[in-house]
Amino acid sequence: MNLNLNNNEILLEYLINKTNMPFITLTKELKINEYNNAFKELLGSPNNLSNKLFEEIVGRINITSEKMFDENHSIKEINCIYRSKSNSTTHLQGSLIENEDEVIIIFRNFLIDESKIIREMSKMNSEMSTLARELTKKNNQLKNANEKITKLINTDFLTGIANRKYFFERLKEMISFKKRDPSMSIGVIFTDIDFFKKFNDLYGHDIGDVVLIKFTEMLGQNIRQEDLLARIGGEEFCIVVQCTPKENYLFDISEKLRKSCGNIAIEGVDIKVTASFGATLYRDGEDIDTLMKRADSNMYMAKKNGRNQVVVI
Ligand code: GH3
Ligand code: MG
Ligand code: MG
Repeated sequence: MNLNLNNNEILLEYLINKTNMPFITLTKELKINEYNNAFKELLGSPNNLSNKLFEEIVGRINITSEKMFDENHSIKEINCIYRSKSNSTTHLQGSLIENEDEVIIIFRNFLIDESKIIREMSKMNSEMSTLARELTKKNNQLKNANEKITKLINTDFLTGIANRKYFFERLKEMISFKKRDPSMSIGVIFTDIDFFKKFNDLYGHDIGDVVLIKFTEMLGQNIRQEDLLARIGGEEFCIVVQCTPKENYLFDISEKLRKSCGNIAIEGVDIKVTASFGATLYRDGEDIDTLMKRADSNMYMAKKNGRNQVVVI
C-alpha cells in the first residue's frame, strides 16, 4: 500500500482520535507522553498519566517478537499485564515502534480481563445450574404426567382395575413368556354377573354401578397380588391366574369367588348378586383368541346350565 505522505498528519489524527485503537507515545526513558481516549479506557479511565513511568502505571513491557519495518525502523510485538486498583488483570498486546526521540505503542483493542471472564463464567455456571434444576423439575413433572396418562389409558374408569386393552396386552406378554418357560402355567377365569340388567332396571343405573364396584372389590380380595384382574366389558371380568398347574386348582379359585358373591351386600338391594364362571388353562402352542374363546364358551355353558356356577374345561 502506498500512502500519499501529505496525508500523514490527517491519517495520524484520525487514528488517534477517531478509531478505537489504543495509542500511546513514550519518551526514550519510557515515560508517558501522549495517549488517546481509547488507551485511557483500556486502563479504566485513570486521571492524568502524563510524565509517569509506563512500567509503574501499566506494567513491564515484554517483547515477544521483532520485525524490520524498513532499514531504520523495526516493529516489536509486545505484551504486558495491567493490574488495576481493584486487582483485576488485563492482558495487553500491541506493536511498539521506536524512532529518534520517542516510542509509540499501538495496542490491539481486545481485552482479556480475567476477573471479567471469571465473573461471566460463574454467571453462566449459575444460569446453567438453574436451567439444569428447572430441567430436572420439568422432567420429573413430565415423568409423573406420563405415568398418570399410562395409568389412565390402562385403567377402567368405574372400578379402578385394569381395562380390556391392558388385559389383552398383558395376557399376550404372559403367553409369549410362557413359550420360553414351559414350566409356567396360565389360567384364565372369565366371569359375568347374572341378570345384571335387573339391578339397573329395579334400582337404577347408579346402584348398578355400585354392584359393579362391590363385585370388583370381592374379586380383588380373593385373588393374589400377582394375579391380573380386569373389567373387559359392562359386567364381564377376567382374571389371569399364574402358576396354576392343575384344572382343579383353577376350579377351586373360581368356586371361592362364586361363593364369595354371597357376601356382597348393598344397602336397599334385596336381590343377591351371583355370577357365572368359565375357567380354562392355557394349552401350549395355542393363540390368545383360542384361549379366550374357550374361557368364554365355558362361561356361557355355566349360564346355559342355570347360572351361578363354574365350568372348567
Ligand atoms: P346374563 O345373566 O345373561 O348375563 O344377563 P345380564 O342381564 O347380566 O346381561 P345383559 O347382557 O342382558 O345385560 C348387561 C347389562 O349391563 C346391560 C347394560 O346396560 C349394563 N351395563 C353395562 N355397563 C354398565 C355400567 O357401566 N354400569 C351399569 N350400571 N350398567 C352397565
Ligand atoms: Mg351378565
Ligand atoms: Mg354380559
